[in-house]
Amino acid sequence: MTTLSSLLAQTSFSDADIVTLLGLKDPDDIAALREAAYSLTTVEVGDTVHYRGLVEVSNICALDCHYCGIRRGNRDIERYCLTKDDVVDAALWSAESGYGSCVLQAGERRDEGFIAFIESCVAEIKERSVSQQLPHGLGITLSLGEQTLETYRRWKAAGAHRYLLRIESSNPETFGRIHPPTQRFETRVAALADLGQAGYQVGTGVMIGLPGQTLADLAADIRFYASCDIDMIGMGPYIVASGNSMLDVGMMDPQALLGLSLRMIAVTRLVLHDVNIASTTALEALATDGRAQGIAFGANVAMPNLTPREVRQNYQLYQGKPGLDQAPAQQQSGLERSVEAGGRRVGWNSWGDPRHFGRRTAANSSG
Ligand code: SAH
Repeated sequence: MTTLSSLLAQTSFSDADIVTLLGLKDPDDIAALREAAYSLTTVEVGDTVHYRGLVEVSNICALDCHYCGIRRGNRDIERYCLTKDDVVDAALWSAESGYGSCVLQAGERRDEGFIAFIESCVAEIKERSVSQQLPHGLGITLSLGEQTLETYRRWKAAGAHRYLLRIESSNPETFGRIHPPTQRFETRVAALADLGQAGYQVGTGVMIGLPGQTLADLAADIRFYASCDIDMIGMGPYIVASGNSMLDVGMMDPQALLGLSLRMIAVTRLVLHDVNIASTTALEALATDGRAQGIAFGANVAMPNLTPREVRQNYQLYQGKPGLDQAPAQQQSGLERSVEAGGRRVGWNSWGDPRHFGRRTAANSSG
């Protein structure tokens, strides 16, 4: 029988190996998994954690994803869209604070007004964030849902270079259960391919602990990331949201969910090596040091929330979202302490692009 230490020393893993690692229960075994993932992170992507200042541009959404707190059908929240000045100011705050990158996220809209609005925000952020520290301006990531190839190209031309679009679950049946029939699994997979074609560094991810999800499903999610040659992973625990239409099926026990989410980060690192993995805010809804724990288990990106505090309570994708009233500077010192307590450094004033992207594009151009 394979011992855990020999399993952790492997460089490739079968589906059964992945399921074994995801299902570890013994605290010593979990510590061994954490240490293996942490060391591999240091070797593969270095000892820095990169910040991306997150601006939640708008909670207006044309879609009705069953799990989501800002879905169209939730009538209990006030809808907002920040002004261009608010978006640009928040992004520039991240540049001045040394973050190197920002993320613009919003509910999904595909109308020309919104597309042009984002395009002009991106162009202005790019232009005004150029400095001695950031000679090419801020790195800009978008997380704005499924759009057409043409829209992806417009936003890229304006200056964005990374895009996050979660597959949510790579199991088409689970995907079908958590989305209305108008949202199709195949369309989402095609959107990820379009993003690659438009030249973005592409990120995806899943929600962990979805009702009915098995460890084999999570193993398949990791295989899905590999099959799309993904550069960045943003995945987090599924937490019920008020106004969500899946309340009746509940969610996993928070402690068990935290443990599973951390093991998923670690195993993804062991299998995929050189991708960027975010330690997402949702982890902090389960434990006050959730993001620090994510870093200890192999994540190398954190996304401090820079959304103006007046509207933050209206962007609650799930219940108990942390940091609703914390000022950016306050959050920053807390996060920095946890990064350093974990033996990592913050990668100030650099984009922190995923090494995987450099390698895959070099491989494509030489072969
Ligand atoms: N509309 C954009 C971005 C906003 S939603 C998009 O779809 O890409 C961003 C992410 O929040 C989603 O991809 C989903 O994985 C996550 N999310 C939504 N509801 C959630 C919940 N109840 N628990 C945990 N994560 C959730």
